Amino acid sequence: DQCISNIEAALKGNAEQDDLYEGPIPPEWKIDPYQGEETYEALKDFISNKDDLSGQQELVLKSLEESKLVGKGGPGARTGKKWRTVGSQKQDVRYVVCNGDESEPGTFKDRELFSKAPHLVIEGVLIAGLTLGARECWIYVRHEYPQQIETLRKAITRAREMGVCGRNILGSRLDCDIDVFVSPGNYICGEQTALIEAMELKRPEPRQRPPNLEIKGLFQKPTLVNNVETFAWIPAILRKGPQWYLDQGANGCTGRRFISVSGDVEKPGVHEVPLGCTVGDMLELCGGIAGGRAMQAVGLSGPSGGFLPPRLSRRVLPSGFQDKYMSKDEDHFDILKLPVDNNFFRRTLEGRFAVGAAIIFVGEQTDMYSLIKNATEFYRNESCGKCVPCRVGGQKLVEISDGIREGKAPDSNLFEALQQTMREASICGLGQVASVPIASFLEFFPEYTSEDGAKDMMMRTVQPRDL
Ligand code: SF4
Repeated sequence: DQCISNIEAALKGNAEQDDLYEGPIPPEWKIDPYQGEETYEALKDFISNKDDLSGQQELVLKSLEESKLVGKGGPGARTGKKWRTVGSQKQDVRYVVCNGDESEPGTFKDRELFSKAPHLVIEGVLIAGLTLGARECWIYVRHEYPQQIETLRKAITRAREMGVCGRNILGSRLDCDIDVFVSPGNYICGEQTALIEAMELKRPEPRQRPPNLEIKGLFQKPTLVNNVETFAWIPAILRKGPQWYLDQGANGCTGRRFISVSGDVEKPGVHEVPLGCTVGDMLELCGGIAGGRAMQAVGLSGPSGGFLPPRLSRRVLPSGFQDKYMSKDEDHFDILKLPVDNNFFRRTLEGRFAVGAAIIFVGEQTDMYSLIKNATEFYRNESCGKCVPCRVGGQKLVEISDGIREGKAPDSNLFEALQQTMREASICGLGQVASVPIASFLEFFPEYTSEDGAKDMMMRTVQPRDL
């Protein structure tokens, strides 16, 4: 009976989850300049100046540079600079690829954009294609998103019917077509160089860089790879102007961003927020910790950013961080006051955090061991195996997480050596961040890692909600 009720609860949970992604663009989203109409006005503006194509291309590049738009998927590269690099390559063939293979645990914002705003993504990709002289563009989608693949295919067909996609766009001599490429399925397939290998029908393993993809990408041709959300912001920035986008931030930050919030919150979901709002604002948007419990931890950027306690002691914080966010008489930093800005998703706290627009809140009593084990197994299972530190180290980390649950914390020197080797000798981000969940657990939750502490904690924990 218990088993059946668990299955029923899981199915009900899924149904509720699916409901989150249906429906029109929410009115509070600023990303849509058309109030729900599929009018492709930014693309029409571009085509209306087709007689001065290079002037129009320069206008788009300048707008992106002035908006200071950064990539919304990973390392946060300046979008305008990236586009300009691709456009300046002396090659006849160039490609544009929209990376929609989001697989980081706790991240599901691109799924929401595909579902609710496919035409904004398509318009952004087409404008990139026309600006950079790419006649073939691809939207690369995670294979576990069958509904969104269907939605995108229908939207592309609709765009072709409207004449804004394909041959002779809107009666001009310009051609630019889009197709969907379904990822073969693996976390690493979302790493941009592995993604290009997959599109060339090779084993999806990351490439050594340089050369960067903007110079030698798909089939050795200059290739622009941007995240789904980055493309989706293009129509709004071009229609409303770069200054409009800059003004969208709060507390001294510029721009807006989509964040996936999950874990022990009343209302998990995706929110479009001004950069500069705080982690506490995000918790409030999601109705607080479920069941009125206190917050035990927060995973910034998903597990790859590590799990942090609600209050961080001054001694673990770098001096630059203290100067920026703390007054002289504060001993602890309240994590709910941390601003959600571009740095937050890149290098806050000396590189401790990785990238990814996800926040996972963990309530009191939730079983932290399960969270850490789950994250560590995920990275072990998703390693492509190309480099030894990641392939072997991933299994070692799972064994360490098992040991911690039994009250056997790892030898700190050995763990540090393993962590350093994986961080420095892994080719891509997966191997570099795989040890972060355990490292944060050991550093910030010592009460869990002694034998007595482990027993005590196991007595009073509950299983985490599905992330
Ligand atoms: Fe593959 Fe891991 Fe090396 Fe990345 S770090 S290339 S996932 S083995």
